[in-house]
Amino acid sequence: MILPIVAYGDPVLRKATKEINENYPELDKLVENMFETMYNAPGVGLAAPQVGLSIRLFVVDTEYISKDDEEAEEDHELGDTDEDFAGIKRVFINPIMIEETGTPWDYEEGCLSIPGIREDVSRKDTITIEYYDENFELWEETFDGLNARVIQHEYDHIEGILFTDKLKPLKKRLIKSKLDRISKGEVDVDYKMLFPELKKAR
Ligand code: ZN
Repeated sequence: MILPIVAYGDPVLRKATKEINENYPELDKLVENMFETMYNAPGVGLAAPQVGLSIRLFVVDTEYISKDDEEAEEDHELGDTDEDFAGIKRVFINPIMIEETGTPWDYEEGCLSIPGIREDVSRKDTITIEYYDENFELWEETFDGLNARVIQHEYDHIEGILFTDKLKPLKKRLIKSKLDRISKGEVDVDYKMLFPELKKAR
């Protein structure tokens, strides 16, 4: 089932999230719905607050972009895909960021809760994270490059942080009116969204 994605301005995106345990009601169903919602948008990561839940859970699938890139490469002979890139598909439950290391690099990020805005964000290259998977098995893994980037973005979501918080003050000022319009639902988007200022009206 495709869930509506909450838009910028909804307080749930800023709320503290809670850990869950294996008795969380219909966890399998939630994980399945989150993947379906993410693929439909489409996106490469989705955090529980983005579907209105203040819990420490997010899903990531960067295999999806690597496949997408391969197709794009075949179709258009684009030569700019990193051939060494191997995507990951994971469910992260109750994650703890152990360490972020390496040289910070800029990458243009977007967010399903902030449609139409893409900006360069600087993040460190390598992360080590501890988390439970969907079967409540505990893992500690190290990721780098684009995989680390997506995990850092989603981890921020469960900490109540959005990528736009990380922009320089001038950039923030420049996009402020765009962000206000998103909260009001004044944005073209191809997937189902919940807009905070419309929700009150209906
Ligand atoms: Zn996001």
